[in-house]
Amino acid sequence: MNEHVTLIGLGPMGQAMVGALLDGGHPVTVWNRTASRADDVVARGAVRAATPAEAVGASDIVILSLTDYRAMYDILGQVEDFGGKVIVNLSSDTPEKTREAAEWAEQRGARFLTGGVMVPAPAVGTEASYVYYSGPKDVYDAHEKTLRRIGETHYMGDDPGLAQLFYQANLDVFLTALSAFLHGAALLGSAGVPAKEFEPWAVKVLQLAAQLLPRAAEQVDSGEHPGDLSTAKMMGATADHILAASEAAGIDLELPRAIKAHYDRAIAAGKGGDNWTRLIDSIRNPQ
Ligand code: NDP
Repeated sequence: MNEHVTLIGLGPMGQAMVGALLDGGHPVTVWNRTASRADDVVARGAVRAATPAEAVGASDIVILSLTDYRAMYDILGQVEDFGGKVIVNLSSDTPEKTREAAEWAEQRGARFLTGGVMVPAPAVGTEASYVYYSGPKDVYDAHEKTLRRIGETHYMGDDPGLAQLFYQANLDVFLTALSAFLHGAALLGSAGVPAKEFEPWAVKVLQLAAQLLPRAAEQVDSGEHPGDLSTAKMMGATADHILAASEAAGIDLELPRAIKAHYDRAIAAGKGGDNWTRLIDSIRNPQ
């Protein structure tokens, strides 16, 4: 028997989650502040609750898909005792907010899991979907089968902040890489080269960067950064050239300035002969 699920928050993500749960044969009760946003999922078989309390009362597991954690307090703030129900908050926010929320929920008798969904709404419930979870392992284990309907499940640890940290560390890489692509496109665009022509080369260089990561991770973890071909000094000279080229092109300088600053600090600390991974020190200690 598939467990009954309550889902609160019917933006694009929440609606996609309800769809995936219904497709998986779960009875689903929903609630959304703007009631009309439930119409489509109700037409597909979900049950509309009249109030948040009714929604919480309908299932042992309550999944939240909200803009942020503030919305959780706005919706569930009046509930004083969750009576052992499981709350799985899949909204994005800071790790600190998720830790506070875990404490808040547990003080009110809930078991609390936090999660970070790594795909956009159209991919929810498909093979491409994956979600980081953290919080009490026994709660995760008990509901993992249900959560798998939303996407591949990855348990990261009992610290409730961890799922958000994994989510944000991934998006840190993602957003920076996307801005770097646009910056490169603007740099070449200053010479009239269309982005379309740059795109395959950018893909190639992203693949090269990906190949460097296993060794980089070892060096970051060991704190040993033996210099070889890609020293901080050599890479730093390239960072200088990118900044100068960007200045000449009259394009935005924030990104190349930030990167150059990492190299400058490593070199100023006498670590120019170390591998580029030495920059981790200036990133960890931004003084
Ligand atoms: P939306 O912002 O579209 O919807 C969020 C839901 O939160 C809506 O149901 C909205 O209600 C509700 N809400 C917001 N504030 C309040 C409040 N104060 N009180 C009551 N309800 C509130 O978000 P998405 O569906 O796009 O995303 C949900 C979460 O998933 C976000 O945290 C997002 O960062 C994360 N995420 C989104 C991805 C995406 O591609 N969209 C990908 C991965 C994660 P109402 O309908 O009444 O406005």
